[in-house]
Amino acid sequence: MAPAVPDTEPPMTRPTVAEADREIGIRHTVLGHGFVALVDYMGNDAAIVQAARVSYGRGTKSVRDDRALVRYLLRHRHTTPFEMVELKFLVRLPIFVARQWIRHRSASVNEYSARYSVVPDEYEVPPPDEVRHQSQRNRQGRGEPLEAAVVERFRSDLERVSREAYTAYSAALEAGVARETARLVLPVAYYTQWYWKTDLWNLFHFLSLRLDPHAQEEIRLFAAEVARLGRLVAPVAFEAFDDFVLSGLSLGRAEQLALRSLLAGATPEAACRDAGLPLTRPDGRPMATGEGVEFLEKLARLRGEPPSGDRE
Ligand SMILES: Cc1cc2nc3c(=O)[nH]c(=O)nc-3n(C[C@H](O)[C@H](O)[C@H](O)COP(=O)(O)OP(=O)(O)OC[C@H]3O[C@@H](n4cnc5c(N)ncnc54)[C@H](O)[C@@H]3O)c2cc1C
Repeated sequence: MAPAVPDTEPPMTRPTVAEADREIGIRHTVLGHGFVALVDYMGNDAAIVQAARVSYGRGTKSVRDDRALVRYLLRHRHTTPFEMVELKFLVRLPIFVARQWIRHRSASVNEYSARYSVVPDEYEVPPPDEVRHQSQRNRQGRGEPLEAAVVERFRSDLERVSREAYTAYSAALEAGVARETARLVLPVAYYTQWYWKTDLWNLFHFLSLRLDPHAQEEIRLFAAEVARLGRLVAPVAFEAFDDFVLSGLSLGRAEQLALRSLLAGATPEAACRDAGLPLTRPDGRPMATGEGVEFLEKLARLRGEPPSGDRE
């Protein structure tokens, strides 16, 4: 059954969501030493509706109307009502994940200071099945499994280098080197921690990029936990986000032309050719990436086929 938008009018009270309140402060483990905790939130689905009705007027009002309004706002990218919902998280994450995460400029962040405090001896060692070959299709991603010996060599090197780094860090602190300087020896597998606060619209943007199969597996795991907690706060908005953004499919001009050819009976290859979507290189070799390949992937999605095997 579709989730109902909680009613807050009248009288106007601070909206709360019991399911979210139960989660406040609970640390949910992600990776070896990381976690995500919901610290606080402001607003819920009703806050989105309330904000939108300032513009649109109350009109007829029912649970179905409210849900339809939230879905309309999301589909048509009426962004500001979603900004009325704020979420604050405490996150412990490896520095290499933090470097990706911090690129999202639309959040407020306060990070653990390694100038002020000693960095704990915690670093990330990926499980064996996450140490894989360089992807053949995606220069940024990982792909096929590796031989066990290579995996074990990498993991033991990572353990050794991390331990050596922390020994050097501890020795430097002991010898009186300032914490802000001593930390330079620590690798990006070490953990940091921050408060991260953003509004629901920017959270959706973050999730659309970081839940995507092209994002690195480690940040995707954090994003999934953030999404799970955010969903408790605003289930109707998240349902719309699932339906129209995560499961949505955009078609560019050439892709629409190709789809038109397909509907008229052309093969996918002919449709791509007619629409100018390249599938082969000038030397005749098939392309692994590009607009034509992405269009075929969209067709596969429409047919309900599983995504290609590469872990990107
Ligand atoms: C799979 C993947 C691979 C990536 N690879 C790389 C890489 O190789 N190298 C690299 O450097 N980065 C990389 N990035 C980071 C990427 O380029 C973005 O910096 C990051 O995803 C943040 O996106 P954003 O700017 O849309 O989000 P936010 O910073 O949260 O901004 C949200 C939105 O606000 C608007 N906005 C915010 N600030 C500005 C501004 N100053 N000017 C104009 N509009 C603004 C934009 O509309 C933006 O989309 C990668 C990201 C992903 C998801």
